Amino acid sequence: MPTEFKIVLFLCSWGPHAAFQRLQDQRADIPPEIKMVRIPCSGRISKALLFKPFEMGADGVILVGCAPGACRYGTGTETAAENTEDTRRILDLIGLDGERVQLGNFQPDAADDLLAFLKAFAARIRELGKSPVRTQAGRDRFTSEPETVEAIVARHDVFACQDCGKCTSACSLALAGKPFSPRYVAAEIIAGHADRPDVRESVNACLTCGVCYERCPSAVNFPEFIKDMRAYYHERDVSAAPAHGGFFQSMMRAMTSEPLVPRRWTHLPESIRTNPKSRVLFFGGCASYFDIFFHKFLAVQTERIVEDSLRLLNFFDVEPALMSDERCCGHDLLWSGDRENFLRLARINADAIAATGAEEIITACPECCHTLGTEYARYGIELSVKVTHMHAFLEREIGKGAVAFKAPQGRMAFQDACRQSRFDGQADLPRKLLKHLCADTTDALDDDGAPTPCCGNSAWIGCDAFSKHFQVQRLQRVCQSGTTNLITACPKCQIHLRCAMEDVLRGDDLKVETMDLVSAIARSIYWA
Ligand code: SF4
Ligand code: SF4
Ligand code: SF4
Repeated sequence: MPTEFKIVLFLCSWGPHAAFQRLQDQRADIPPEIKMVRIPCSGRISKALLFKPFEMGADGVILVGCAPGACRYGTGTETAAENTEDTRRILDLIGLDGERVQLGNFQPDAADDLLAFLKAFAARIRELGKSPVRTQAGRDRFTSEPETVEAIVARHDVFACQDCGKCTSACSLALAGKPFSPRYVAAEIIAGHADRPDVRESVNACLTCGVCYERCPSAVNFPEFIKDMRAYYHERDVSAAPAHGGFFQSMMRAMTSEPLVPRRWTHLPESIRTNPKSRVLFFGGCASYFDIFFHKFLAVQTERIVEDSLRLLNFFDVEPALMSDERCCGHDLLWSGDRENFLRLARINADAIAATGAEEIITACPECCHTLGTEYARYGIELSVKVTHMHAFLEREIGKGAVAFKAPQGRMAFQDACRQSRFDGQADLPRKLLKHLCADTTDALDDDGAPTPCCGNSAWIGCDAFSKHFQVQRLQRVCQSGTTNLITACPKCQIHLRCAMEDVLRGDDLKVETMDLVSAIARSIYWA
């Protein structure tokens, strides 16, 4: 029987497959919208795999594995339960009802129970209706004709390279030991070898941290060149291998569907005061999704940055507006080459921001700040509002002189956010705030004023052993300096550095208390 609904069933080959096979042998009336994918173990279906069918047009996803205690690999049933629960929570937040994903556990002889479960799920999906996610196929194109390599090279004046090698000697990845040279990559692309796999791999490996651009005497903006080259590869379907199975890129692409209405702020503490009519709009970013995704292995709490920002705004008598349906700003799609979907998100965001009537956006995320404040305009999407980083707001308010800070306990080091320090040229801004924090304590801050290296990954692509080595080197330096608190300025820096800290083979060697600068201020500020 034809049906408009699509449900993907991931079915473990061991116990429950025997039950499903019995249903097929009996020609049982399995709902026709259910399409089965046989898998080796329910624990192998990651959050990315649970989410991917939704990006591709599914209305529901079922994961069926062995009953508790019956998994042949020991932990599959438990992992499947955790992945399903996390995915459900994220679906709820992005406005794709969490009930659209369900886990079932069945013994080989439980065919009747399995059939009842499948029927009940299919009926629930029919009640919920079609998924609001629109697939990419057949949608209007947002980009113009794909650019040629020659046009990209000319626009970034890569010919101006003097072959001096300063970029390579300063490159974050080269210093981590990766056989990688921006100068060589540029030369190979100029020589017409852009489509060679090793050149493409290098383009995708670049951290886009901007250290090379700072050093280049010819002002070759290598990160911008890389960004355009990634878009060139994306147009040809040879994008970078994403980290975490592409979960975040999938989620961002799903958010380009206008019928999808995210519920970004459903977990906001009641003590935080907001005002929908405020002329200040607070833009939260993706922290809440990160916290759910990483809670088991990294235990990060990046949403705390968002809540502390809102508390500090309230502290200074600002009750900001929030967009209940706030979407991702699109930073990672842009920097991983998916310009078309970046533009879709940007246009939806621009319209939603305009509808709030706000005059200023404040955000604590350096990537949101750079993307909303600079990249949107670069791609022809003008926001008629001023974009302010939370640090700038705090510096403005603290500068009025009515507040003081409790002295920090222990010694602090600072981790710059590349988009703030090198892209927006505001390396001094967080340092001014750190000086306020440490005003009454000598030797509390280990910082020479120069922006620190990148945290080892950007845009959720190209994470490899060198990223990890780079992070380990950074953390070793931090630990050796006697630092007890690593202060960060970007939720992703916390996540990536925490990932290196949690390396089981290193035990507690690299562990250091990590906190965002906004949170450090929120915990120590008081009216003088
Ligand atoms: S620093 Fe600039 S001029 Fe020197 S090799 Fe690198 S891209 Fe060329
Ligand atoms: S942006 Fe960073 S990782 Fe990429 S070439 Fe420049 S210094 Fe190296
Ligand atoms: S450093 Fe860790 S958290 Fe960051 S992208 Fe790589 S694996 Fe993921």
